[in-house]
Amino acid sequence: MLQNKTALITGGSRGIGRAIALAMAQQGANIAIIYSGNEAVAQETAEEIRALGREAETYRCDVAKFDEAGATVKAVLKRFGAIDILVNNAGITRDGLLLTMKEQDFDDVIATNLKGAFHMIRHVSGAMLRKKSGHIINITSVSGMMGNAGQANYAAAKAGLIGLTKTTAKELASRGITCNAIAPGFVETDMTKKLSEEQLAAAADVIPLKRMGRPEDIAAAAVFLAGESAAYITGEILKVDGGLYI
Ligand code: NAP
Repeated sequence: MLQNKTALITGGSRGIGRAIALAMAQQGANIAIIYSGNEAVAQETAEEIRALGREAETYRCDVAKFDEAGATVKAVLKRFGAIDILVNNAGITRDGLLLTMKEQDFDDVIATNLKGAFHMIRHVSGAMLRKKSGHIINITSVSGMMGNAGQANYAAAKAGLIGLTKTTAKELASRGITCNAIAPGFVETDMTKKLSEEQLAAAADVIPLKRMGRPEDIAAAAVFLAGESAAYITGEILKVDGGLYI
């Protein structure tokens, strides 16, 4: 149970982040949802959480911006009094083959998917250190472990996130803070809607469990890593991919 815990979830409005927000709320947590532009969707998710009897607030913030991330963390701490769980889930893709990939597309993906997580950890960890407790969960990807043609920027960011996870785990363990990552495979969200029917069918075909992941599959792992049952787990990269990367 996550009774009376506060979870800050970046990208908590849609897709995997939304499923994590709802699953944590079902376990008793209050939720701060960070989104970048789509306010209506963020409000809808917040309403669903309030309907579960939990508190929810939405914050528009570009996690790629250090100061904006800092101001948002401050506002969340003022509103909720603590941040017990930080889920770095916000992410984007700008796929393309190496030979033609634009520098801006490489930089944008690193800025959101990797630096964004650093910014949030940097700003949230002070409050967790003072409380001598906290759980940080980074959403990486099997692309960061296997590599993936057409995703040099994304795979590099996600591999970087694994290094960030392990280092954060080592630095903060002595203060009662855990840091783990979840590496999803292919999950049914807006992100993978960009793929063609053929690409999706080919993807499902190579997954040993023969189906795409659902956001709820990832959310169940996040709830586990945020709870007491996972108190002795830190620095772990948990694949939730239907066996895609065995
Ligand atoms: P999604 O449906 O595209 O949702 C992305 C979320 O991130 C939205 O809430 C979006 O907010 C937010 N966001 C994007 N850029 C942001 C920024 N700069 N600052 C703050 N928020 C930002 O994505 P998803 O498929 O759920 O993916 C969630 C995470 O899982 C990502 O890190 C992704 O890399 C990872 N992942 C996904 C898959 C998959 O197959 N789907 C597989 C492996 C890993 P707005 O709505 O306001 O734009």
